[in-house]
Amino acid sequence: MYCKNCGKQIDDRAVICPHCGVPAETEKVKPGAPGLCVAGFVISILSIWFGIIFCIPPILAIALSAQGNRKAKKNGFHSNLGTAGLVIGILTTVFWGLFFLSLIIVMATTAR
Ligand SMILES: [Zn+2]
Repeated sequence: MYCKNCGKQIDDRAVICPHCGVPAETEKVKPGAPGLCVAGFVISILSIWFGIIFCIPPILAIALSAQGNRKAKKNGFHSNLGTAGLVIGILTTVFWGLFFLSLIIVMATTAR
């Protein structure tokens, strides 16, 4: 990020600007969830239906949400969307995972 007082580039985690000494805290508070959290949440919702594509969408949702949450934490705020995406992603992965597992079992038993 950049210091709002002197405009020089400073470390994102810096509390005060090392160049001019002005507190940089206010710059860090940026509202809104990162795009990754939003993407993770949207895909997790879609994956309730599209988990049928071999569990790929819910796993993708978990990956995006986890990444988004990590970024949100770094920026000093908590993303409810990211957490929701993570929870829904895990639930849909378990749901579709069980679905495919039972499908494999049924196919294996009927093949005999
Ligand atoms: Zn400065």
